[in-house]
Order: sequence, then C-alpha cells, then structure tokens
Amino acid sequence: MYGQVLLLNGNTWEPLCVISVPRAINLLIANKAVMVEATGRFLRSVRSEFPVPSVIALKQYINVPRRHAAWSRRGVLARDDYTCIYCGARPGDAPRGKLLSKQDFTVDHIVPRSRGGKDTWTNTACACYACNHRKGDRTDREAGMRLRWEPKTPRTSYIVITMSHGPDTWKKYIEIKP
Ligand SMILES: [Zn+2]
Repeated sequence: MYGQVLLLNGNTWEPLCVISVPRAINLLIANKAVMVEATGRFLRSVRSEFPVPSVIALKQYINVPRRHAAWSRRGVLARDDYTCIYCGARPGDAPRGKLLSKQDFTVDHIVPRSRGGKDTWTNTACACYACNHRKGDRTDREAGMRLRWEPKTPRTSYIVITMSHGPDTWKKYIEIKP
C-alpha cells in the first residue's frame, strides 16, 4: 500500500532502481539521499510524520557495474567530472578571467558528428566552451589539441524501467527507450 520509490544516482540523477518506501525513508533519515519528489502523503507515527517520497536521489554518485552503459550527454559530463579534456579547466576555474560554471562545459565529439563521429563513450568527452569552440569541426589531431586522457566506456548505466509500473512523477527522470 505504500507503493514504490524511484532511486536516482547522485549528481547525474540517472535512475538506479526502484525501492520500497521504508528503504527510501531509511536512506533519507540516514542523510544518504535527498527528496526529489514527494507523493503528498505522510507516514505518521506517534511522535512524528514523514512525507512519503516518490523519487529520491543519492547524495553521492555511485558507479554501477553493468555490461551495457547507455551513452548520454549527462553521463559523459559526470564521467569526466566536468573537466575539460583539452585544457583541464573545471567549474570554479577562471582561465581567461571569466569564472567557469558547469554551464560552460559541453560534450565534445572528438571525431565531429559532421565527419561521421558517433555518440559513443569513446568518441565524446567533456570540453570547456572555449576549447569546443576552438576545435570546431576538426578532429583533435587536425586542431592540434591533445587529449589529456583517453575517454573510456564507464561501468555505469542508465537503467530503463518499464514505464507501465511507474507513476507520472517518475517520467521526467527516466529516459524511455523505444
Ligand atoms: Zn578547455
């Protein structure tokens, strides 16, 4: 009767799994997760009442071992921890006198899409706006820009949940695959 709670990973908010309400409340009380969406219902005990969650997110990002890690832009940025693969800039740095925030970081295609480069973990990496702009429609070699690390397929994935079981509040957190 309590229903179920969608658990999101920390930082990326990728869906991890579906858990029971008591387990979700335990994570919230233990300060390991934050409430993202509430159901509007309350769990009442003699001394207190607790809002029943519908969606919660872990406070920390965890690596989930899986065979098939689905590619996504948010996943690339999380994998690279918002660090530019070309110049190493990070949010909080001010390389050209301008303070960088997470919004200044984009996903760069090492072989550009216009040249047949694909949306894959090994062909994409986080790049700051300036480097992405400078590289433009060229490969890293053509642009003379060196990769600071080799982009790898992470051991993490976005699970796909059968939507027929989930409430509406879950929909925006779940990437529905045809
Ligand atoms: Zn850069």
